[in-house]
Amino acid sequence: MSRLTETRNSNREVNSTSVQTTTTTTTSSIAGYAARALASLTELQLSFIKALPKAELHAHLNGSIPLRVLRSLAQDLFNTSPENDSTPTNDPCLAQNHRIQTLPAHIAASLEKLQSGVELNEIHDFFSLFPAIYALTSTPKSLQKATRAVLREFLDGPEPQAAYLELRTTPRETPAMSRRSYVLAVLSEVERYRADEAALIVSLDRRMEDRVLGECVEIAGSLRAEGRRVVGVDVCGDPLVRSCSRLVRFFFLMTFVGIGGRC
Ligand SMILES: [Zn+2]
Repeated sequence: MSRLTETRNSNREVNSTSVQTTTTTTTSSIAGYAARALASLTELQLSFIKALPKAELHAHLNGSIPLRVLRSLAQDLFNTSPENDSTPTNDPCLAQNHRIQTLPAHIAASLEKLQSGVELNEIHDFFSLFPAIYALTSTPKSLQKATRAVLREFLDGPEPQAAYLELRTTPRETPAMSRRSYVLAVLSEVERYRADEAALIVSLDRRMEDRVLGECVEIAGSLRAEGRRVVGVDVCGDPLVRSCSRLVRFFFLMTFVGIGGRC
């Protein structure tokens, strides 16, 4: 932990005070079997486990955004909706924000829920928020804000949850960014940390068309060739949707572009 503190660069110093709060919040929200297991540990065992440097090798970016940051992103989105933003613009990011008014009802409802305070008791409570989370991270700026918060949650503060983190995320194309811009936005935050602290895995979703799968592998490979911190490609999504065998040729392609793959 002291190693992390010593090596923290000036950019990361800026908001390090907020991390203590989030770490406490995360710990206090542990429930069910996990809470019972935790309660069975002695103080000595707890402090030993906390002090161990840990490697998190598969953290879902959109699934790890702290709730307070989702609320803040929702606030940003509402603040730039047409009633609150009188600036006429051709900027695609702002244009995207303006589309809040035309979002499907279930996404708008989730956003309202996030703003007014949401209770997450069951795992499905969280999954139902995903369409809204995607809407909240649909511009490079909002995606960077979310990524930065996730990295801080895992790596910073007096009791970091991990000493090394591999964030995985599926490149998403939106009206405000291409899939390459998506990966670049995430990488720009990941690379604020040292190579032995944080790295990126590009995920392929089984539901993607072959053209998109090829595009994602190309993005991962070309960025890696440029020396950017992409360390792997993985396959995600519902295993019942399509067979993994369809993806074999993309795994060969990954090997060709010098990237490891996991399924
Ligand atoms: Zn996963």
